[in-house]
Amino acid sequence: MATLTPRSLETRTVDHLIDGRDVSSVSGKRFATLNPFTEQKLAEIAEAGPEDVDKAVRSARRAFEKGPWQQTSPWERGRLLWRVAEIIRTRSNELALLDALDCGKPLKDNLHGDLPLCVRIFEYYGGVSDKVRGSVIPGENGFHNFTLREPYGVIACVLPWNYPFLNACIKLAPVLAAGNTAVLKMAEKTPLSTVELGKICLEAGIPPGVVNVVNGGPQVGAALVSHPLIDKISFTGSTATGKAILKAAADRIVPATLELGGKSPSIVFESANREQALAGVLFSAFFNAGQICTTGSRLLVQESIAEEFLQRLIERVMSLRLGDPVSEETDIGPLVDASQLERFHSYVRVGISEGARLLFQYQDSTPKTGYFAAPVIFDSVRPEMRIAQEEIFGPALAVMTFRDEAEAIRLANSVSYGLAASIWTSDLNQAFRMARSVQAGIIWTNTVECWDPSVPYEGHKQSGFGEDFGLEAYYTYTKSKSVFLNTSGNKLAWGR
Ligand code: NAD
Repeated sequence: MATLTPRSLETRTVDHLIDGRDVSSVSGKRFATLNPFTEQKLAEIAEAGPEDVDKAVRSARRAFEKGPWQQTSPWERGRLLWRVAEIIRTRSNELALLDALDCGKPLKDNLHGDLPLCVRIFEYYGGVSDKVRGSVIPGENGFHNFTLREPYGVIACVLPWNYPFLNACIKLAPVLAAGNTAVLKMAEKTPLSTVELGKICLEAGIPPGVVNVVNGGPQVGAALVSHPLIDKISFTGSTATGKAILKAAADRIVPATLELGGKSPSIVFESANREQALAGVLFSAFFNAGQICTTGSRLLVQESIAEEFLQRLIERVMSLRLGDPVSEETDIGPLVDASQLERFHSYVRVGISEGARLLFQYQDSTPKTGYFAAPVIFDSVRPEMRIAQEEIFGPALAVMTFRDEAEAIRLANSVSYGLAASIWTSDLNQAFRMARSVQAGIIWTNTVECWDPSVPYEGHKQSGFGEDFGLEAYYTYTKSKSVFLNTSGNKLAWGR
């Protein structure tokens, strides 16, 4: 397979991947994906219409019903997933570069964070595929009752742009481990690495048609999730889109997993190890320019240490380097596109107009090109303000102080989201109490943004439902079947 370089990408055209082949759109339409650092066109992408979506879904349906995939033993499926992991490991440099160019994510974060995790995800689900069992349930004399777990069939995976390759791997590995086939649709802002993932699956020996990828925007996503041959929807993205997708799922009574937005708090108590808490809050608020679903976009800090903590936090933010995502020096790259940058600026204006104080704004020079957002910290924030309630998806931190644990819990739970929280304390009893009281699907204690494929997570409240990761994700891509087997030779059922 040819090695990607920034130059080879400039002239690249990328098609859909349908039935194991590169396929252009029936309409011939294409759209451009931009490099958010250079603001120049990176590649031309085939743009799907409903007829292309239909082709992709039918390909996945054929592969599920008639292809060799159903006959592939769970053990063999596992082996294929391990091969995918191996190819990702071998091609990590190139895949890291692809997301850096397409998304603006710093190359070093992709290389040392996302890619090793993607490898582990495929290894984990490779190991899972032949280890999950049904159960035998004691019944009446003469009855042998048991349950089976079966794949749903064709899974529609609709994905966001903020961690393109990682988000695609998180969905695809358990989908395949459970024996389903898939149609993936990545956000139109960052399509390149998802198409590459489909090709890696083929190279690993996964049969054509098992993994299909279509490209395009919301209309393509809408056509996919409402297609009559889709058996389950797995979505990661904003809460607003999640609601639209749930309506489409309701129309056809298909199940949906929804991983949605967040407004996660970092909660710092006076007993916290300061160095650890500072590093955690900095990372959680500004890493990937605040474009993580679990970004710690609210800092709740105990009043007694607030002034000193904020002073030291500002010093650390000032030392961050904004720049070319491909440079090893860069801590923060550009936002993904001009619309995200405008959204960020509009929230800064909203914060000021609502009466929050712009405590800090990053002043260092930013590169000449690129959609760079200067990190900001607001204090004097009230919980009802929009900057404390809404997902900004940029490097903006809203700071509130609390007097005691009860107030910290009240503030933490004062939003409609419930995705994640980090708690910084050296009091173990307090850590346990907080873990139980904070309404979020992931609680990190004295750590943050810590991911492990064997540990499941699920959003609470408006952050969605259904797990990613863990055995739980495997189960979400299977349905149960209950079998009553009457071996008595005469009676029909209990009492008859
Ligand atoms: P988005 O909701 O705008 O788009 C996500 C995907 O849905 C894209 O592929 C888009 O084309 C598609 N889409 C849009 N409208 C659709 C419709 N009506 N029907 C079907 N598909 C449609 O989200 P985004 O801006 O790409 O990503 C950012 C969001 O993703 C943030 O809210 C972030 O918190 C969330 N996110 C959540 C998690 C998680 O695990 N909870 C992880 C990453 C990102």
